[in-house]
Amino acid sequence: FQRLRDGLSRTSSQLTGQITALFTKRKLDDDTLQDLEDLLIQADLGMETALRITDTLASERYGRDVTGEDVSRIMADEITKVLTPVAKPLTLDLSHKPHVILVVGVNGTGKTTTIGKLAAKLSGAGLKVMLAAGDTFRAAAIEQLKIWAERTKSHIVATKLGADAAGLAYEAFEEARRQKSDVLIIDTAGRLQNRTELMAELEKIVRVLGKLDPDAPHTVLQTLDATTGQNALNQVEIFRNVAGVNGLIMTKLDGTARGGILVAISAKHKLPVYFIGVGEGIDDLEPFEARDFARAIAG
Ligand code: GDP
Repeated sequence: FQRLRDGLSRTSSQLTGQITALFTKRKLDDDTLQDLEDLLIQADLGMETALRITDTLASERYGRDVTGEDVSRIMADEITKVLTPVAKPLTLDLSHKPHVILVVGVNGTGKTTTIGKLAAKLSGAGLKVMLAAGDTFRAAAIEQLKIWAERTKSHIVATKLGADAAGLAYEAFEEARRQKSDVLIIDTAGRLQNRTELMAELEKIVRVLGKLDPDAPHTVLQTLDATTGQNALNQVEIFRNVAGVNGLIMTKLDGTARGGILVAISAKHKLPVYFIGVGEGIDDLEPFEARDFARAIAG
C-alpha cells in the first residue's frame, strides 16, 4: 500500500491541495460544488464519479463548513464503490492447457514489460509458461521478450521480423500444447498509426486461435499507460471492439499525476482490472485493490 501511495502521490497531492484551497473559509454552496466538480473532472476521474462525489457531499454538508478531510473521506468512499466491481484477481482455467492470454495495447503502454512481470508471477507460482513474440514488426520487442523469457525461465516462440503474427500465434499454441504448458502469453503489435492493418491483424490472431480452441484466447488483456490520461478511454473503446478485451492492466502508476483515469475507465467500461504496474522492475506488478487505490488517490 505504501508503494501505491507513493506512486500516486502526485495525483493525490495535486488534488488535495486544490480541494483544501477551495474550501478554506467557504461554506458548501452551489459555487463551491461547481468548482469541486471541475477539479475532479480535471483530475481525470470522469463526470459520473465527479457527480457522485459532489452529490454525496451536498447531501451531507450543504450550507455548512467543509474540511479537506470531509471531501477526502467521501471521495475515497465513492471511488471505492466504482472500483470494487472491477477489482478482480486474474483467474486461469488450467483445464485448458494452455490457458491462452492475448495481450493487446498501443505501443509503449507496457505490453512487453507487463508480459515479463506476469510470466514471473505465474512461473513463480509453479506454472509452466510459454511466451509468443507476436509483435513481429519491431525487432526490439522480440529481443525484449526473449530477455524476459530467460529471466522468468519461460519458453518462447519467436519468428523473424515481419512474419505473419497470426501464423506465429497458431504455431505457439500448438507448441504450448505439445509441451503441455499451463499458460501461453501472446504479445502483439500496437501500431495505432496504421489502424486498419493492426485491427485486421488482431482479428486474424483471435480467429486462428479459435480454430484450435473455440474459447481461445481465454483472456484478452489490454495494457493502458496511466500517463496518457483521457486517451486511455478511447484506446479501450478501440481494442475492445476488435480484440474482445476482457481485462485491463494499467501501467506507470508510479509517479503520474493522472492516476484518476483508471476511475473514469472503470465507471465507463466496467472491465476487470487485474493488476497495476508501479515500476519497470520484475516485481512491480501489483494486484488491483479498490480501497487501497481509492485511498491513495483521495489523500
Ligand atoms: P510496449 O511497446 O507496449 O511493449 O511497451 P514496453 O513494455 O516496451 O514499455 C514501454 C516503456 O515503459 C519501457 O521503458 C518500460 O520499462 C516502461 N514501463 C512499463 N511498465 C511500467 C510501469 O509500470 N512503470 C514505469 N515507470 N515504467 C513502465
